[in-house]
Amino acid sequence: MRLVVVGGVAGGMSAAARARRLDETAQIVVLERGPHVSFAGCGLPYFVGGEIADRSALLVQTPASLHDALALDVRTGHEVVGLDAAARTLTVRSSAGDYRLDYDALVLAPGATAVRPPIPGLDSPRVRTLRTVDDAVALRALAEGARRAVVLGAGFIGLEAAEALAGRGIDVALVELAPHVLPPLEEELAPYVADELARLGVAVHVGVAATAVEHGAGQDVVVLGDGSRLAADLVVLSVGVRPDTAAFEAAGVACERGAILTDEHGRTSLPGVWAVGDAVGSVDAVTGAVRSVALAGPANRAGRLVADAILRPGSARPIPPAIGSAIVRVGDLAVATTGANRAALAAAGIACHTLHLHPSQHAGWFPGARAIHLVVHVRQGDGRLLGAQAVGAAGADKRIDVLATAIRAGMAVADLIDLDLAYSPPYGAAKDPVTMVGFEGANVIDGTLRLWYAQDVDQVLATSLVLDVRSAGEFAGGHLPGALNIPHTQLRARLAEVDRAAAGRPVRVMCASGVRSYLAHRVLAAHGVDSASLSGGIQTLTAVLAARGRRDLLTSPALEGSPA
Ligand SMILES: Cc1cc2nc3c(=O)[nH]c(=O)nc-3n(C[C@H](O)[C@H](O)[C@H](O)COP(=O)(O)OP(=O)(O)OC[C@H]3O[C@@H](n4cnc5c(N)ncnc54)[C@H](O)[C@@H]3O)c2cc1C
Repeated sequence: MRLVVVGGVAGGMSAAARARRLDETAQIVVLERGPHVSFAGCGLPYFVGGEIADRSALLVQTPASLHDALALDVRTGHEVVGLDAAARTLTVRSSAGDYRLDYDALVLAPGATAVRPPIPGLDSPRVRTLRTVDDAVALRALAEGARRAVVLGAGFIGLEAAEALAGRGIDVALVELAPHVLPPLEEELAPYVADELARLGVAVHVGVAATAVEHGAGQDVVVLGDGSRLAADLVVLSVGVRPDTAAFEAAGVACERGAILTDEHGRTSLPGVWAVGDAVGSVDAVTGAVRSVALAGPANRAGRLVADAILRPGSARPIPPAIGSAIVRVGDLAVATTGANRAALAAAGIACHTLHLHPSQHAGWFPGARAIHLVVHVRQGDGRLLGAQAVGAAGADKRIDVLATAIRAGMAVADLIDLDLAYSPPYGAAKDPVTMVGFEGANVIDGTLRLWYAQDVDQVLATSLVLDVRSAGEFAGGHLPGALNIPHTQLRARLAEVDRAAAGRPVRVMCASGVRSYLAHRVLAAHGVDSASLSGGIQTLTAVLAARGRRDLLTSPALEGSPA
């Protein structure tokens, strides 16, 4: 049996290594176009920033170490340029010329390639993508001595690059076409990231495209659609990736928008050919949509499962649908997501409730408590968990991982109440943020709590009485126009005032984070009032208004933990 693997990094090398562990007799050949295999692609930004000092730390394995440990025939500098599935043969290009290589089973793990939009001037030597070790070495060389950098694209890699370059003391401008940084993030969380980037000294330009890179003798200039001109000693091009599959699609492998289509065992449309990783179209576990999931964990795990499917087909576990959990560090913040976001749910026609919470990462009375800003989507009706996002200085990673596990398990939001999570004051709370999501979600699903959303503020102002149940001091620090202020502790005694001010209109309650307004909502509901509580309180409202450039709707809303 000869197993040939195309692509020698995450998915491909996982498949090859697992295949060896399952079959000591198979001939296993790994063909890698680049000069390195098994390199730490996820570490590249940290090498550029200098946090990883030595390039050798990125090179986890070499062809020689893989030969010694696993008897793999690893060929770097060998690119597959043709595939004849009927004859089960590949055409391989190397410095020694082209040759043909037969296979019994073929695993395609060619990954993704950086998108290069048709912007004039991208051929400048100061413009680099960040995909390979060589890219990172080149960027670091450019960064040494650089004063100004422009990063095009504020996705995960763009944010990491911006953070890394700012950490070197370089003036960084980050340019993003979408209305906010990290486009998959909900708008109510993005301002926290933008504020942290500003703290790091990164100048953020959103809602605008780069239109040209002008080459200069000393520096290049990146020209933006709004006329801005940004000087740059180096430019990082990180506007997205697309599956690197042209050679295989041309050979007849069925693809959708360039992504290889597979079944749940990684089988492609061609017999004897499997595919994994960034090159593959994954079925989304929440929405059912087919999409590329360019993440290392899924690629590594799928590589392992595909080896099982080839060598132990009777007992191989299927590759599960994609949840797409991801996390990125931005300065002091962790920004983490799992499952579907609001846009994906809307596109799939899935109606949801959205919960906004701002709990501390551990008991508030224990020193060092910092807020985690959480957004959680749950399906209307049965409360099934659909997606979650978190931004926080500490503990966001753990909460998103728990929620990712719950989504994989198909849990409903109320099931989170029953999770037995470890607690002592430095680490969590007796009612963990995840438990609080369960409490609030259960209340929403059974009707104990009715929410209104910051996104609907204009409609609410036009049709309802806004009742602000914070203290008079908090109210004075910033409030919605026309809001009635009755602190929640006085509400029962002042219900007649609410009735008079509402004059038959619905009452929409708000407080700082949604806790006191929930209490007030219960009082009002018992009083027969059509009421609802602002999800996430003024903290979330402030963030939404900030994202929409409308901070002035609230006067001086300076609240701890909310975007300034
Ligand atoms: C800078 C950066 C940071 C990242 N950070 C994270 C992170 O923090 N967390 C996370 O989950 N993911 C991260 N990722 C994504 C992660 O690295 C990828 O999702 C993962 O490597 C995909 O694995 P893969 O096997 O599909 O492709 P790759 O690991 O990209 O491997 C594909 C290999 O195939 C080779 N190849 C392509 N075509 C051919 C051909 N025709 N013949 C021979 N060889 C070929 C390529 O040269 C490449 O080396 C990051 C990616 C980058 C670039």
